[in-house]
Amino acid sequence: MKLYNLKDNSEQVSFAQAIKQGLGKQQGLFFPQDLPEFNREEIDQLLKLDFVTRSSHILSAFIGDEIPLEHVAVRIKSAFTFPAPVAKVEEDVATLELFHGPTLAFKDFGGRFMAQMLAQVAGEQPVTILTATSGDTGAAVAHAFYGLDNVQVVILYPQGKISPLQEKLFCTLGGNIHTVAIDGDFDDCQALVKQAFDDNELKQALYLNSANSINISRLLAQICYYFEAVAQLPEDKRGQLVISVPSGNFGDLTAGLLAKSMGLPVKRFIAATNVNDTVPRYLTDGKWVPHQTVATLSNAMDVSQPNNWPRIEELFYRKSWPLSELRHGVVSDEVTKETIKALAKLGYISEPHAAIAYRVLRDQLQEGEYGLFLGTAHPAKFKESVEQILGEELPLPEALAERADLALLSHCLPANFAELRAFLLERAPE
Ligand SMILES: *Cc1c(COP(=O)(O)O)cnc(C)c1O
Repeated sequence: MKLYNLKDNSEQVSFAQAIKQGLGKQQGLFFPQDLPEFNREEIDQLLKLDFVTRSSHILSAFIGDEIPLEHVAVRIKSAFTFPAPVAKVEEDVATLELFHGPTLAFKDFGGRFMAQMLAQVAGEQPVTILTATSGDTGAAVAHAFYGLDNVQVVILYPQGKISPLQEKLFCTLGGNIHTVAIDGDFDDCQALVKQAFDDNELKQALYLNSANSINISRLLAQICYYFEAVAQLPEDKRGQLVISVPSGNFGDLTAGLLAKSMGLPVKRFIAATNVNDTVPRYLTDGKWVPHQTVATLSNAMDVSQPNNWPRIEELFYRKSWPLSELRHGVVSDEVTKETIKALAKLGYISEPHAAIAYRVLRDQLQEGEYGLFLGTAHPAKFKESVEQILGEELPLPEALAERADLALLSHCLPANFAELRAFLLERAPE
Protein backbone atom coordinates (compact mmCIF):
# COMPACT_ATOMS: atom_id res chain seq x y z
CA MET A 1 0.00 0.00 0.00
CA LYS A 2 1.26 3.46 -0.91
CA LEU A 3 0.14 6.69 0.72
CA TYR A 4 0.99 10.32 0.02
CA ASN A 5 1.15 13.42 2.17
CA LEU A 6 -1.73 15.79 1.45
CA LYS A 7 0.52 18.80 2.10
CA ASP A 8 3.39 17.56 -0.08
CA ASN A 9 2.42 14.91 -2.62
CA SER A 10 6.05 14.05 -3.26
CA GLU A 11 6.30 12.46 0.21
CA GLN A 12 5.19 8.88 -0.33
CA VAL A 13 5.21 6.19 2.32
CA SER A 14 4.29 2.55 2.83
CA PHE A 15 1.44 1.47 5.11
CA ALA A 16 3.99 0.51 7.80
CA GLN A 17 5.60 3.95 7.63
CA ALA A 18 2.26 5.73 7.70
CA ILE A 19 1.25 3.79 10.81
CA LYS A 20 4.51 4.46 12.61
CA GLN A 21 4.78 8.11 11.58
CA GLY A 22 1.13 9.08 11.95
CA LEU A 23 1.69 12.44 10.23
CA GLY A 24 3.91 13.45 7.33
CA LYS A 25 6.03 16.58 6.79
CA GLN A 26 4.39 19.91 7.69
CA GLN A 27 1.90 17.91 9.76
CA GLY A 28 0.37 16.63 6.52
CA LEU A 29 -2.12 13.77 6.61
CA PHE A 30 -1.46 10.58 4.69
CA PHE A 31 -3.97 9.48 2.08
CA PRO A 32 -4.11 6.24 0.05
CA GLN A 33 -2.67 6.37 -3.47
CA ASP A 34 -5.00 3.64 -4.70
CA LEU A 35 -8.67 3.65 -3.82
CA PRO A 36 -9.83 0.05 -4.25
CA GLU A 37 -13.30 -0.54 -5.64
CA PHE A 38 -15.56 -3.58 -5.63
CA ASN A 39 -18.22 -4.14 -8.27
CA ARG A 40 -21.84 -4.85 -7.40
CA GLU A 41 -21.38 -8.60 -7.43
CA GLU A 42 -18.28 -8.47 -5.22
CA ILE A 43 -20.11 -6.22 -2.77
CA ASP A 44 -23.00 -8.70 -2.60
CA GLN A 45 -20.53 -11.52 -1.93
CA LEU A 46 -18.76 -9.49 0.77
CA LEU A 47 -22.03 -8.69 2.48
CA LYS A 48 -22.70 -12.41 2.89
CA LEU A 49 -19.51 -12.98 4.90
CA ASP A 50 -19.15 -12.73 8.68
CA PHE A 51 -17.81 -9.46 10.15
CA VAL A 52 -14.20 -10.56 10.74
CA THR A 53 -13.75 -12.37 7.42
CA ARG A 54 -15.37 -9.56 5.46
CA SER A 55 -13.28 -6.94 7.25
CA SER A 56 -10.09 -8.82 6.39
CA HIS A 57 -10.97 -8.68 2.69
CA ILE A 58 -11.88 -5.00 2.83
CA LEU A 59 -8.65 -4.01 4.57
CA SER A 60 -6.51 -6.27 2.42
CA ALA A 61 -7.85 -4.45 -0.62
CA PHE A 62 -6.11 -1.34 0.74
CA ILE A 63 -3.06 -2.90 2.39
CA GLY A 64 -2.24 -5.12 -0.60
CA ASP A 65 0.75 -7.46 -0.37
CA GLU A 66 2.49 -5.39 2.30
CA ILE A 67 0.86 -7.57 4.95
CA PRO A 68 -0.51 -10.95 3.79
CA LEU A 69 -4.27 -11.50 4.10
CA GLU A 70 -3.78 -14.26 6.71
CA HIS A 71 -1.91 -11.87 9.03
CA VAL A 72 -4.47 -9.14 8.53
CA ALA A 73 -7.18 -11.66 9.40
CA VAL A 74 -5.42 -12.72 12.63
CA ARG A 75 -5.00 -9.07 13.66
CA ILE A 76 -8.61 -8.23 12.94
CA LYS A 77 -9.77 -11.22 14.91
CA SER A 78 -7.83 -9.90 17.94
CA ALA A 79 -9.11 -6.34 17.44
CA PHE A 80 -12.79 -6.87 16.58
CA THR A 81 -13.85 -9.02 19.52
CA PHE A 82 -17.31 -7.47 19.91
CA PRO A 83 -20.28 -7.00 17.57
CA ALA A 84 -21.70 -3.89 15.85
CA PRO A 85 -25.46 -4.57 15.85
CA VAL A 86 -28.06 -2.54 13.99
CA ALA A 87 -31.04 -1.70 16.24
CA LYS A 88 -34.39 -0.59 14.87
CA VAL A 89 -35.64 2.74 16.25
CA GLU A 90 -38.51 3.61 13.92
CA GLU A 91 -40.09 2.03 10.84
CA ASP A 92 -37.64 3.86 8.56
CA VAL A 93 -34.76 4.53 10.97
CA ALA A 94 -32.21 2.31 12.67
CA THR A 95 -29.00 2.88 14.58
CA LEU A 96 -25.64 1.17 14.25
CA GLU A 97 -24.50 0.50 17.81
CA LEU A 98 -20.74 0.88 17.91
CA PHE A 99 -20.39 0.86 21.69
CA HIS A 100 -20.14 -2.80 22.64
CA GLY A 101 -16.34 -2.76 23.02
CA PRO A 102 -14.28 -2.45 26.22
CA THR A 103 -14.56 1.36 26.46
CA LEU A 104 -18.14 1.55 25.21
CA ALA A 105 -17.47 3.79 22.21
CA PHE A 106 -16.78 3.38 18.50
CA LYS A 107 -13.17 4.41 19.02
CA ASP A 108 -12.49 0.88 20.28
CA PHE A 109 -12.58 -0.33 16.68
CA GLY A 110 -9.92 2.05 15.40
CA GLY A 111 -7.85 2.03 18.58
CA ARG A 112 -7.64 -1.73 18.83
CA PHE A 113 -6.90 -2.25 15.14
CA MET A 114 -4.20 0.41 15.24
CA ALA A 115 -2.56 -1.21 18.27
CA GLN A 116 -2.55 -4.54 16.45
CA MET A 117 -1.11 -3.04 13.27
CA LEU A 118 1.55 -1.15 15.17
CA ALA A 119 2.58 -4.35 16.93
CA GLN A 120 2.66 -6.05 13.50
CA VAL A 121 4.97 -3.48 11.88
CA ALA A 122 7.08 -2.27 14.85
CA GLY A 123 8.50 -5.59 15.97
CA GLU A 124 11.05 -5.03 18.75
CA GLN A 125 11.36 -1.24 18.48
CA PRO A 126 10.12 0.80 21.48
CA VAL A 127 7.33 3.29 20.68
CA THR A 128 5.68 6.18 22.54
CA ILE A 129 2.11 6.87 21.60
CA LEU A 130 1.24 10.55 22.12
CA THR A 131 -2.34 11.54 21.60
CA ALA A 132 -4.89 14.19 22.49
CA THR A 133 -8.41 13.24 23.40
CA SER A 134 -11.69 15.05 23.86
CA GLY A 135 -12.89 12.02 25.80
CA ASP A 136 -13.27 8.75 24.04
CA THR A 137 -10.14 8.34 21.94
CA GLY A 138 -8.05 8.35 25.08
CA ALA A 139 -9.95 5.52 26.67
CA ALA A 140 -9.92 3.46 23.50
CA VAL A 141 -6.21 3.98 22.91
CA ALA A 142 -5.31 3.36 26.55
CA HIS A 143 -7.22 0.09 26.65
CA ALA A 144 -6.00 -1.03 23.24
CA PHE A 145 -2.31 -0.62 24.24
CA TYR A 146 -2.51 -1.37 27.97
CA GLY A 147 0.11 -3.94 28.90
CA LEU A 148 1.65 -4.24 25.40
CA ASP A 149 5.45 -4.69 25.45
CA ASN A 150 7.65 -1.90 24.08
CA VAL A 151 4.81 0.61 23.92
CA GLN A 152 4.16 3.49 26.31
CA VAL A 153 1.18 5.78 25.88
CA VAL A 154 0.88 9.47 26.82
CA ILE A 155 -2.63 10.91 26.62
CA LEU A 156 -3.46 14.62 26.88
CA TYR A 157 -6.98 15.72 27.71
CA PRO A 158 -8.65 19.02 28.65
CA GLN A 159 -8.91 19.17 32.42
CA GLY A 160 -12.50 19.32 33.67
CA LYS A 161 -13.92 19.12 30.14
CA ILE A 162 -14.54 15.39 29.91
CA SER A 163 -17.07 13.44 31.93
CA PRO A 164 -15.86 12.11 35.32
CA LEU A 165 -16.60 8.56 34.26
CA GLN A 166 -14.76 8.98 30.98
CA GLU A 167 -11.79 10.16 33.00
CA LYS A 168 -12.01 7.15 35.32
CA LEU A 169 -12.06 4.81 32.40
CA PHE A 170 -8.56 5.65 31.15
CA CYS A 171 -6.80 7.61 33.91
CA THR A 172 -6.85 4.75 36.40
CA LEU A 173 -4.88 2.17 34.41
CA GLY A 174 -1.28 3.15 35.22
CA GLY A 175 1.47 0.82 33.97
CA ASN A 176 2.45 1.84 30.45
CA ILE A 177 -0.40 4.36 30.26
CA HIS A 178 0.43 7.98 31.29
CA THR A 179 -2.42 10.51 31.39
CA VAL A 180 -2.00 14.30 31.49
CA ALA A 181 -4.77 16.77 32.33
CA ILE A 182 -4.04 19.99 30.40
CA ASP A 183 -5.29 23.33 31.66
CA GLY A 184 -7.01 24.25 28.37
CA ASP A 185 -9.49 22.94 25.81
CA PHE A 186 -9.22 20.07 23.33
CA ASP A 187 -7.81 22.29 20.59
CA ASP A 188 -4.98 23.27 22.98
CA CYS A 189 -4.25 19.58 23.56
CA GLN A 190 -4.30 18.89 19.86
CA ALA A 191 -1.97 21.84 19.21
CA LEU A 192 0.51 20.51 21.82
CA VAL A 193 0.54 17.13 20.12
CA LYS A 194 1.20 18.77 16.76
CA GLN A 195 4.07 20.78 18.27
CA ALA A 196 5.60 17.63 19.70
CA PHE A 197 5.50 15.97 16.29
CA ASP A 198 7.22 19.00 14.79
CA ASP A 199 10.09 18.65 17.26
CA ASN A 200 12.55 16.25 15.64
CA GLU A 201 14.75 15.79 18.69
CA LEU A 202 11.77 14.87 20.82
CA LYS A 203 10.32 12.67 18.13
CA GLN A 204 13.51 10.65 17.87
CA ALA A 205 14.18 10.42 21.60
CA LEU A 206 10.73 8.96 22.21
CA TYR A 207 9.98 7.20 18.91
CA LEU A 208 6.81 9.26 18.93
CA ASN A 209 3.71 7.98 17.28
CA SER A 210 0.29 9.61 17.16
CA ALA A 211 -2.79 7.57 17.87
CA ASN A 212 -5.71 9.93 17.42
CA SER A 213 -7.96 9.91 14.41
CA ILE A 214 -5.04 11.19 12.31
CA ASN A 215 -3.57 7.68 12.07
CA ILE A 216 -4.68 6.08 8.82
CA SER A 217 -5.03 2.61 10.35
CA ARG A 218 -7.85 3.85 12.58
CA LEU A 219 -9.79 5.13 9.60
CA LEU A 220 -9.35 1.93 7.65
CA ALA A 221 -10.69 -0.11 10.58
CA GLN A 222 -13.76 2.10 10.75
CA ILE A 223 -14.66 1.42 7.10
CA CYS A 224 -15.50 -2.14 8.12
CA TYR A 225 -18.51 -1.35 10.29
CA TYR A 226 -20.27 0.57 7.54
CA PHE A 227 -20.23 -2.66 5.52
CA GLU A 228 -21.42 -4.50 8.60
CA ALA A 229 -24.38 -2.12 8.90
CA VAL A 230 -25.46 -2.65 5.31
CA ALA A 231 -25.03 -6.42 5.69
CA GLN A 232 -27.63 -6.35 8.48
CA LEU A 233 -30.21 -4.28 6.56
CA PRO A 234 -32.99 -5.87 4.55
CA GLU A 235 -31.87 -6.03 0.90
CA ASP A 236 -34.67 -3.80 -0.38
CA LYS A 237 -33.43 -0.91 1.78
CA ARG A 238 -29.90 -1.00 0.37
CA GLY A 239 -30.52 1.38 -2.50
CA GLN A 240 -32.24 3.97 -0.30
CA LEU A 241 -29.80 4.26 2.56
CA VAL A 242 -28.97 7.62 4.14
CA ILE A 243 -26.34 7.60 6.92
CA SER A 244 -25.99 10.34 9.52
CA VAL A 245 -22.65 10.59 11.32
CA PRO A 246 -22.16 12.59 14.54
CA SER A 247 -18.94 14.43 13.76
CA GLY A 248 -16.12 16.07 15.69
CA ASN A 249 -12.77 15.41 14.06
CA PHE A 250 -14.55 13.86 11.05
CA GLY A 251 -12.68 10.55 11.16
CA ASP A 252 -15.84 8.50 11.31
CA LEU A 253 -17.36 10.33 8.37
CA THR A 254 -14.13 9.94 6.36
CA ALA A 255 -14.31 6.18 6.90
CA GLY A 256 -17.95 6.10 5.78
CA LEU A 257 -17.15 8.02 2.62
CA LEU A 258 -14.25 5.65 1.93
CA ALA A 259 -16.70 2.75 2.28
CA LYS A 260 -18.93 4.42 -0.30
CA SER A 261 -15.96 4.98 -2.59
CA MET A 262 -15.28 1.22 -2.46
CA GLY A 263 -18.76 0.57 -3.81
CA LEU A 264 -20.89 0.24 -0.68
CA PRO A 265 -24.39 1.41 -1.65
CA VAL A 266 -25.10 4.59 0.33
CA LYS A 267 -27.36 7.22 -1.18
CA ARG A 268 -25.92 10.07 0.85
CA PHE A 269 -24.12 10.96 4.04
CA ILE A 270 -25.02 13.61 6.55
CA ALA A 271 -22.42 15.35 8.71
CA ALA A 272 -24.16 16.14 11.99
CA THR A 273 -22.42 18.47 14.44
CA ASN A 274 -23.12 20.39 17.62
CA VAL A 275 -22.69 24.18 17.63
CA ASN A 276 -18.99 23.71 16.89
CA ASP A 277 -20.03 23.94 13.26
CA THR A 278 -16.99 24.91 11.22
CA VAL A 279 -17.77 22.32 8.54
CA PRO A 280 -21.53 22.97 8.14
CA ARG A 281 -20.79 26.69 7.77
CA TYR A 282 -18.05 25.91 5.27
CA LEU A 283 -20.38 23.71 3.23
CA THR A 284 -22.93 26.53 3.22
CA ASP A 285 -20.79 29.53 2.33
CA GLY A 286 -17.43 28.10 1.22
CA LYS A 287 -15.55 29.94 3.97
CA TRP A 288 -13.35 28.12 6.47
CA VAL A 289 -13.74 30.16 9.66
CA PRO A 290 -13.19 28.15 12.87
CA HIS A 291 -14.68 29.86 15.92
CA GLN A 292 -13.59 29.46 19.53
CA THR A 293 -14.53 25.94 20.66
CA VAL A 294 -17.69 25.86 22.78
CA ALA A 295 -18.33 23.22 25.47
CA THR A 296 -21.51 21.21 24.76
CA LEU A 297 -23.31 18.10 26.00
CA SER A 298 -21.73 16.15 23.15
CA ASN A 299 -18.21 16.89 24.34
CA ALA A 300 -16.44 14.39 22.06
CA MET A 301 -17.57 16.62 19.21
CA ASP A 302 -16.35 19.90 20.72
CA VAL A 303 -13.87 20.46 17.93
CA SER A 304 -13.68 23.58 15.81
CA GLN A 305 -10.67 22.60 13.68
CA PRO A 306 -11.53 19.05 12.61
CA ASN A 307 -8.27 17.45 11.59
CA ASN A 308 -9.63 14.89 9.13
CA TRP A 309 -11.37 17.43 6.93
CA PRO A 310 -8.54 17.61 4.32
CA ARG A 311 -8.97 13.88 3.70
CA ILE A 312 -12.65 14.34 2.95
CA GLU A 313 -11.91 17.12 0.48
CA GLU A 314 -9.24 14.97 -1.16
CA LEU A 315 -11.63 12.03 -1.49
CA PHE A 316 -14.34 14.17 -3.11
CA TYR A 317 -11.72 15.56 -5.47
CA ARG A 318 -10.31 12.13 -6.36
CA LYS A 319 -13.77 10.67 -6.96
CA SER A 320 -15.02 13.80 -8.76
CA TRP A 321 -17.92 13.98 -6.32
CA PRO A 322 -19.37 17.47 -5.81
CA LEU A 323 -18.97 18.58 -2.20
CA SER A 324 -22.61 19.68 -2.29
CA GLU A 325 -23.58 15.98 -2.10
CA LEU A 326 -22.48 15.99 1.51
CA ARG A 327 -25.44 17.05 3.63
CA HIS A 328 -25.08 18.61 7.06
CA GLY A 329 -26.93 19.83 10.10
CA VAL A 330 -26.22 21.57 13.39
CA VAL A 331 -27.96 20.75 16.68
CA SER A 332 -27.94 22.87 19.84
CA ASP A 333 -27.80 21.46 23.37
CA GLU A 334 -31.44 22.45 23.83
CA VAL A 335 -32.57 20.42 20.84
CA THR A 336 -30.21 17.59 21.80
CA LYS A 337 -32.02 17.28 25.13
CA GLU A 338 -35.45 17.29 23.48
CA THR A 339 -34.24 14.65 21.05
CA ILE A 340 -32.97 12.35 23.81
CA LYS A 341 -36.44 12.61 25.35
CA ALA A 342 -38.14 11.95 22.02
CA LEU A 343 -35.96 8.89 21.44
CA ALA A 344 -36.77 7.59 24.93
CA LYS A 345 -40.49 7.90 24.04
CA LEU A 346 -39.77 5.70 21.04
CA GLY A 347 -38.25 3.19 23.45
CA TYR A 348 -34.63 3.93 22.66
CA ILE A 349 -32.25 5.27 25.32
CA SER A 350 -29.59 7.35 23.62
CA GLU A 351 -26.85 9.85 24.51
CA PRO A 352 -26.02 13.32 23.19
CA HIS A 353 -23.77 12.38 20.22
CA ALA A 354 -26.09 9.81 18.69
CA ALA A 355 -29.08 12.04 19.42
CA ILE A 356 -27.56 14.78 17.27
CA ALA A 357 -27.12 12.36 14.39
CA TYR A 358 -30.69 11.12 14.79
CA ARG A 359 -32.13 14.66 14.90
CA VAL A 360 -30.52 15.75 11.64
CA LEU A 361 -31.39 12.44 9.97
CA ARG A 362 -35.05 12.62 11.03
CA ASP A 363 -35.28 16.21 9.80
CA GLN A 364 -33.76 15.43 6.40
CA LEU A 365 -34.98 11.91 5.58
CA GLN A 366 -37.23 11.80 2.50
CA GLU A 367 -40.21 9.58 1.74
CA GLY A 368 -39.10 6.08 0.74
CA GLU A 369 -35.59 6.45 2.14
CA TYR A 370 -34.13 4.41 4.97
CA GLY A 371 -32.08 6.19 7.61
CA LEU A 372 -29.22 4.94 9.74
CA PHE A 373 -27.49 6.98 12.44
CA LEU A 374 -24.32 5.96 14.19
CA GLY A 375 -24.54 5.19 17.89
CA THR A 376 -21.05 6.26 18.83
CA ALA A 377 -21.14 5.78 22.62
CA HIS A 378 -23.06 3.84 25.25
CA PRO A 379 -25.58 6.11 27.05
CA ALA A 380 -24.03 5.18 30.40
CA LYS A 381 -20.83 6.86 29.27
CA PHE A 382 -22.74 10.12 29.51
CA LYS A 383 -24.69 8.99 32.53
CA GLU A 384 -24.84 12.36 34.33
CA SER A 385 -26.37 14.28 31.47
CA VAL A 386 -28.63 11.49 30.22
CA GLU A 387 -30.01 10.85 33.70
CA GLN A 388 -30.63 14.52 34.24
CA ILE A 389 -32.43 14.86 30.92
CA LEU A 390 -34.58 11.75 31.34
CA GLY A 391 -35.05 12.01 35.09
CA GLU A 392 -34.30 8.32 35.56
CA GLU A 393 -31.30 6.27 36.57
CA LEU A 394 -29.20 4.32 34.12
CA PRO A 395 -27.44 1.14 35.19
CA LEU A 396 -23.65 1.29 34.84
CA PRO A 397 -22.23 -1.31 32.47
CA GLU A 398 -19.56 -3.52 34.02
CA ALA A 399 -16.57 -1.93 32.29
CA LEU A 400 -17.42 1.40 33.91
CA ALA A 401 -18.62 0.10 37.28
CA GLU A 402 -15.29 -1.65 37.84
CA ARG A 403 -13.30 1.55 37.41
CA ALA A 404 -15.61 4.08 39.05
CA ASP A 405 -14.04 3.77 42.51
CA LEU A 406 -10.36 3.73 41.50
CA ALA A 407 -8.08 6.74 42.07
CA LEU A 408 -7.10 9.00 39.17
CA LEU A 409 -3.40 8.72 38.27
CA SER A 410 -3.24 11.78 35.96
CA HIS A 411 -0.53 14.42 35.96
CA CYS A 412 -1.55 18.08 35.53
CA LEU A 413 0.22 20.47 33.18
CA PRO A 414 -0.50 23.96 31.79
CA ALA A 415 -1.08 24.29 28.02
CA ASN A 416 2.60 25.02 27.57
CA PHE A 417 4.84 23.10 25.17
CA ALA A 418 8.11 23.51 27.09
CA GLU A 419 6.60 21.85 30.15
CA LEU A 420 5.11 19.02 28.15
CA ARG A 421 8.45 18.51 26.41
CA ALA A 422 10.30 18.15 29.73
CA PHE A 423 7.64 15.74 30.96
CA LEU A 424 8.06 13.59 27.88
CA LEU A 425 11.85 13.58 27.88
CA GLU A 426 11.83 12.21 31.43
CA ARG A 427 10.01 9.24 29.98
CA ALA A 428 12.24 8.57 26.97
CA PRO A 429 13.18 4.91 26.57
CA GLU A 430 16.91 4.04 27.03
C1 LIG B 1 -15.08 10.85 18.85
C2 LIG B 1 -16.55 10.82 18.95
C3 LIG B 1 -17.36 11.38 17.96
C4 LIG B 1 -16.79 12.12 16.79
O1 LIG B 1 -16.08 11.28 15.89
P1 LIG B 1 -15.07 11.91 14.84
O2 LIG B 1 -14.50 10.75 14.10
O3 LIG B 1 -14.03 12.65 15.63
O4 LIG B 1 -15.85 12.82 13.98
C5 LIG B 1 -18.73 11.24 18.09
N1 LIG B 1 -19.29 10.64 19.15
C6 LIG B 1 -18.54 10.11 20.14
C7 LIG B 1 -19.21 9.47 21.30
C8 LIG B 1 -17.15 10.17 20.07
O5 LIG B 1 -16.41 9.65 21.05
